[in-house]
Amino acid sequence: MKCALCGFEFNEKEAQRACSGCVLIKSCNLVKCPNCGYESPLEPRFIKKIRAWRREKR
Ligand SMILES: [Zn+2]
Repeated sequence: MKCALCGFEFNEKEAQRACSGCVLIKSCNLVKCPNCGYESPLEPRFIKKIRAWRREKR
């Protein structure tokens, strides 16, 4: 996914591992950007679909 703050693209699974504050709470839906440390909610599938659709339109 892509970080909303710095635009850095990263693997969701890697980002979840980087979220050290959520080791105890495994149901945390936040992913942490490895680049800037910004925490954002996991991208829901429909957002990915919208993005893919936008790419096609461009
Ligand atoms: Zn970032």
